[in-house]
Amino acid sequence: MFASSLLVIILSIIIVEFILDFIVEFINWKHQTDVIPAKLADVYDAEKYAKSQAYQAEQTKFGFLTSSFSFILSLLMLVFGGFGALNNYLTQFSNHPIVLALLFSAVLFIINDIITLPFALYGTFVIEEKYGFNKMTIKTFVLDKIKGYGLTFVLGGIIISALLYTVMWLGPQFWIAAWVLISVFILFINMFYTTLIVPIFNKLEPLEDGNLKSAITNYCQKVNFSLDNLFVIDGSKRSAKANAYFSGLGPKKKVVLYDTLIKDHTEDELVAVLAHEVGHYKRKHIIQTLIIGILQTGIMLFLFSFFAFNADLSTTLGADKSYIHLNLMTFGLLYSPISTFLGIFMMLLSRKNEYEADDFAKNTFAAAPLISALKKLSANNLSNLTPHPLYVFLHYSHPTLLQRIENMEKNNS
Ligand SMILES: [Zn+2]
Repeated sequence: MFASSLLVIILSIIIVEFILDFIVEFINWKHQTDVIPAKLADVYDAEKYAKSQAYQAEQTKFGFLTSSFSFILSLLMLVFGGFGALNNYLTQFSNHPIVLALLFSAVLFIINDIITLPFALYGTFVIEEKYGFNKMTIKTFVLDKIKGYGLTFVLGGIIISALLYTVMWLGPQFWIAAWVLISVFILFINMFYTTLIVPIFNKLEPLEDGNLKSAITNYCQKVNFSLDNLFVIDGSKRSAKANAYFSGLGPKKKVVLYDTLIKDHTEDELVAVLAHEVGHYKRKHIIQTLIIGILQTGIMLFLFSFFAFNADLSTTLGADKSYIHLNLMTFGLLYSPISTFLGIFMMLLSRKNEYEADDFAKNTFAAAPLISALKKLSANNLSNLTPHPLYVFLHYSHPTLLQRIENMEKNNS
């Protein structure tokens, strides 16, 4: 009885989320105007602005297609008990809870990847290609897939096994041990992301000596930031879009600049971008985000401890009895409104942090080169200059270009 009302709740969540997402995407798409805000007048010329609008429209329409497809697929799987049926089928290979959970997750991951492959191919080799972004060859695409599979199986396998092991071993009290284990795992990945994971996909090389290196070194000395690890990544292997990021903690901290960023920007602009990244570190954003992530994991595991042994969660998916991994899956579906809500909060925090990092760059270096770098990045990425405020509120990890410029121009005397 309880299982059928659970199913109704889950279906309602999925339907409501899909409709709301659809509406917000649509509003954002229709919000684009032909008038560029005065402060952004030099970002695009008329031709490129039209191109950026066409790109946004094409991406939005493609997004509608992919999300509708996965929405319908999820509904069918839930209504017809597809997940339970798959699980029942797999029990003939193993009945061991951990082995079965790994098998179930792996098969589901592979099926999902095969079904969505045409979309991935179209997105990269048709849309991104058409707008000149795609630099990926079929060979890179295939190699990425193979490596991605390997990585997912190893990391996903570790997480699933550790979680199920603690549940079986400790009963309802599992969540504390699971939390500690997963936190250690998150910390480890954070510290070694650039050292261990990025090199699987990209070539990282230390920035070579020269004017840029000395300009950056000078800046870092000025703000008392020890930067031993400054790398250039071959982002151009996949996309013409540019980026820079900060990763790691303490002595493991690294700044990574995309080769596509270096190619298109002046020395001052690059130092300003770096100053922004240093700002994230100095204002302790990295550690803050990490701590919040770990806290959220704890809350989620604590809530899951009330459902981990409830057979109704498995039968909701069409299984004949209770399986921890199916209970986890149902719990994940029930948890999604909470996770959406937390996601919105994280975006809010992230946008606040971006302002702080911009302010740091402005105060320790200069605003003008950062503004011109951000304008170039927006132009090169064919970014939407006038997103709808609601869309920004829900989805943007960074304030809009206009907001960032206005923030940096504030109190400029
Ligand atoms: Zn930032």
